[in-house]
Amino acid sequence: MEEQHQKFEELDDALADWADLGEIIQESKDCSFQTIYSPIRAFFAADSSQWEKFGQLKSHKERIQFLTRMKVVQNSLVDIVPTSEKVHEEPKPTIERKRQRKEPPQLSHGANKMYPNLSKALEVKRTSAEGRHMIAKQKILPGEVLIVEQAQTTSLFRDFYPTHCANCFRRVEEEELVNCISCKTVKFCSETCLRNSWPVHKYECRILDYIDSKDIGHMATLAFRIVAAQEFSFIVENVEKFDEMEPSYEDGDYISAYKQESNMALRPSGDHLKRCVTALILARLVKVLYFHGFSILLELCNGIVH
Ligand SMILES: [Zn+2]
Ligand SMILES: [Zn+2]
Repeated sequence: MEEQHQKFEELDDALADWADLGEIIQESKDCSFQTIYSPIRAFFAADSSQWEKFGQLKSHKERIQFLTRMKVVQNSLVDIVPTSEKVHEEPKPTIERKRQRKEPPQLSHGANKMYPNLSKALEVKRTSAEGRHMIAKQKILPGEVLIVEQAQTTSLFRDFYPTHCANCFRRVEEEELVNCISCKTVKFCSETCLRNSWPVHKYECRILDYIDSKDIGHMATLAFRIVAAQEFSFIVENVEKFDEMEPSYEDGDYISAYKQESNMALRPSGDHLKRCVTALILARLVKVLYFHGFSILLELCNGIVH
């Protein structure tokens, strides 16, 4: 732990210079990605030598470090603060609805040894031309079930908040919905859905306007939720080892999500800039919410940019 502190001392210093706004609440502010991103983009557009330097950086860590030293980035990120009150307890639901849940189907041909959610009829391969991909190992008939997997995380489009459950996405009549009493924004179809969603929602509840803003993109929302769903201790203890850790490909395995194909080498500098700023926004949100007082920002950004 001590080593981590030293290693990222510079970054911590930069963060310490930003005002400690963790407990300041702002109820009506513009949380859109463009508001935060535009000044940074404009800065690079006006200074081609800085843009050139950014383009020459080879890793996420270098790019993130470069950005966090820039005043324009610090000024943009410092305004990110929670937009609703701190929540300590699970809100009491008002209506309990009993529903029959459908059981997921069984995999045809049994489970793949390495990828337990895949059928044995499939094989995962990797080539330089095609990257990671799947092929059929045997004849597959119409209607056979090849993948049955619990989603790592899910996200309901904001437009559907008033009409659909934020956990299971069922359309529900408005008078039947159970409200989150904290953010008063998302709704659930039942006590069960509220409870299932709570471990992650209790964090995002306070910063929903940032991660569900239209222009930040749904991948950013999903990335935040994957990190928010992890135990703090798991992230802190393993963050240095993420690259070496083997994914289990079982439901909820963080390393399986972390090691998704990123194709980073193929992306242009403009894309890197947007993703790095997104990562910094998300990392700032994570820090403000529940990693307060201990910065593992840089490593978190690495995970999120993936
Ligand atoms: Zn539901
Ligand atoms: Zn809420």
